[in-house]
Amino acid sequence: MIDPGSYQPEPLRRWHIPEVVDKFRRAVLAQQTAAAMDIPAIIGGHEISIGELASVDPGDYERVVAKASSVNSEAADEVVAGLADAQRSWSDRSHTDRAEVLMGAASWMRERRDELAALEVFEAGKPWDEADADVCEAIDFCEYYARQAVVLGRGGVVQSPPGEDNRLMYVGRGVAVVIGPWNFPLAIPTGMTAAALVAGNAVALKPAEQTPAIAYQLVRALRESGLPEGVLAFVPGPGEEIGAALVAHSGVQTIAFTGSKDVGLAIIEQAGRTQPGQRFVKRVVAEMGGKNAMIIDSDADLDQAVPAVAQSAFGFAGQKCSAASRVFVMQPIYDEFIDRLIAHSATLEVGHPSEPSVVVGPVIDADAHARLTGAVARTTGTVRFGGSTSHIPERAGWFVAPAIVDGLPPTDRIMTDELFGPVLAVASVADIDSAIRRANQTDYALTAGIYSRSPATVERAVLQLHAGNVYVNRTITGSIVGRQPFGGHGLSGSGPKAGGPDYLKAFSDAKAVSENTIRQGFAPDYLS
Ligand code: NAD
Repeated sequence: MIDPGSYQPEPLRRWHIPEVVDKFRRAVLAQQTAAAMDIPAIIGGHEISIGELASVDPGDYERVVAKASSVNSEAADEVVAGLADAQRSWSDRSHTDRAEVLMGAASWMRERRDELAALEVFEAGKPWDEADADVCEAIDFCEYYARQAVVLGRGGVVQSPPGEDNRLMYVGRGVAVVIGPWNFPLAIPTGMTAAALVAGNAVALKPAEQTPAIAYQLVRALRESGLPEGVLAFVPGPGEEIGAALVAHSGVQTIAFTGSKDVGLAIIEQAGRTQPGQRFVKRVVAEMGGKNAMIIDSDADLDQAVPAVAQSAFGFAGQKCSAASRVFVMQPIYDEFIDRLIAHSATLEVGHPSEPSVVVGPVIDADAHARLTGAVARTTGTVRFGGSTSHIPERAGWFVAPAIVDGLPPTDRIMTDELFGPVLAVASVADIDSAIRRANQTDYALTAGIYSRSPATVERAVLQLHAGNVYVNRTITGSIVGRQPFGGHGLSGSGPKAGGPDYLKAFSDAKAVSENTIRQGFAPDYLS
């Protein structure tokens, strides 16, 4: 019996407890010495080994973490046909029935929490606390959407006057394709996949090329929790091949995408072109990038604001869609703020995340490394901190030191582009109006935050900041399922908020049923 009201987020590991640290250290060691994992594709319920896609440890890129199958675009027809078949009986089941599978997957992950997080340390380069948080979020998505599905299964509230029975039902749409990023390699694929499945769809999961082994753990969790064979296909492979082929396929009703703006917009455009034989309008749920700003008011408590900015900008090496990449600081406190931010940032250890003291791990790959170091090397601003690689470990890893840059013209890449790494633009502003105006000067509108002790200023910022998630006197990263539903406005997102009460409806079609219940021409003789 699933109680819709009993959702609670999974508590994060408490790293000050020595036994917790020892247990996780053992999981990290086991993962460090493990052989490369073999990850199959799954099509039509069968495990298949085709092609090869290797994932490596970004902190030690000569080490292969997994060898995954690599599915190419020719498989798209077979993938979609198998899912369409399986979807029919899956969608006939009740929401509660399907929700039980999600509850099972949550338990499966909970039992293997350290093992899963340790895999993230090596395949995604996540520091310990970030890896643990990602696994917790995956569990939360399963627990939360399972409960939301029970509510959705009861239908919408509509009026039924005497003599008429009206219902609003939510039914699965058909075949959904889930395309995920590498930066929350378990949580984000889990959120999109769990929502699509529990709403009654069959799903093709296309994980990011960099993290197929972690995404495969979700597939194991669902299959071992009773998901019928055939309802979920797992298709690792290049995004521009199998990903694009599935998006364009005439049998795919829904596309759930989380990733960059450019890819997301291309998917939205492609999905808008009706294919021969396509008898429905495709729906795209897209969550994309951010160029997120924090505002530091002149009365802000800098004891809190400085570490919160550093955490928001440099946690997981700045590789979060929600990360702070611009800070606007009131002129009277500018010098004090930046001096303290530099001093704080100098304490953040850069290195391989297998060590618990590391705060800033590697960036994900060579492209990211080149993009970030290039932006800092070529900036027209003043690099106030970082930019030097002298204290970075000598290891075959893609490490980038956190960088703080000011004196930037508004057109510098560091001010305009989502660089997706530990590079932070800081600027001084004269008043709150210019701070809000500059914060809003971007195509993106994902997260934003303010540190202020003035209720009037906070209220103005909350109303005027153009962002899907606004944070007050706290970090701007780390949203929790069921507490801070997450998703952007502007060119940061198209859809409902993940981890919120509206999300499952994006994967459902609403069907209104109206029945005349007044007996008309009732003929008892014909009943026997
Ligand atoms: P990406 O856009 O490069 O790739 C995302 C996924 O899309 C991958 O699985 C990739 O293989 C696939 N893909 C690539 N080209 C495709 C195509 N033509 N057709 C179909 N699929 C294709 O993004 P990334 O580097 O994996 O992730 C980082 C980006 O994700 C950043 O921009 C970040 O802000 C964003 N992100 C957003 C959120 C959010 O909730 N808004 C969360 C996490 C990450």
